[in-house]
Amino acid sequence: MQKIIIGNWKLNPLTLSEAQALAGKIDRAPKHLAAICPPTAFLSSIDYPVLGAQDCFWQAKGPYTGQSGSPAQLKSLGVKYCIVGHSEKRALGESGEQINAKIMALLENKITPVLCIGFDTKADEDELAVIDTLAEQLAEALKNVDAAKIIVAYEPVWAISSGNPYETKHIEKAEHAEKIAIYAKTKFGIQTVLYGGSSNSANAPSFLSQPNIDGLLPGGASLLPDDFNQMINLEL
Ligand code: PEP
Repeated sequence: MQKIIIGNWKLNPLTLSEAQALAGKIDRAPKHLAAICPPTAFLSSIDYPVLGAQDCFWQAKGPYTGQSGSPAQLKSLGVKYCIVGHSEKRALGESGEQINAKIMALLENKITPVLCIGFDTKADEDELAVIDTLAEQLAEALKNVDAAKIIVAYEPVWAISSGNPYETKHIEKAEHAEKIAIYAKTKFGIQTVLYGGSSNSANAPSFLSQPNIDGLLPGGASLLPDDFNQMINLEL
């Protein structure tokens, strides 16, 4: 079954020529649907069949100095996906209201929002407490939004860049992520749920073999062409 793998390059690499070289090493016709999200500064100069952005601003254009690009501008670059609500943005103060405004503007421009949830969760807290936090993030982000049109990425903040998505007290392997995916689908009407948090080619099969996990949002592994190419071509 085809899954969706979206590579989040974050603020990497350092130069445009490195970014172009990296994109040139990613398989252009993989088994699964693959997208890459380069830094905004490089987005218009990267040649890859499916591109995503890492953030956007909710206004189309105007006096908003320094904003990362509007959905209308991203659409003009051919961008198909846009990450919103990433923990690294929420940690800098991005609010639920802002995330909601970004989602609505993206949908108006027919760009699929990839809503990250999982900020503020803790590795050793009860699973019900995790769900409470996620419910609040989902409810804020999805106000007046058709949930069926967005992708949700469950990214427990403690697993991002930790190198080990299993290293927790009560959360064992991908079954926890599967339960969260079922929750987002049944309670909020989400149709597509990804997992993110130190995913790589070694642990990808355990996540992708879960029936309700529709794909992955790797960060670090998306900068390693061999690893990323293995992920986007995995036999399941
Ligand atoms: C991310 O960037 O969303 C992410 C999950 O990063 P990493 O895979 O490096 O943990």
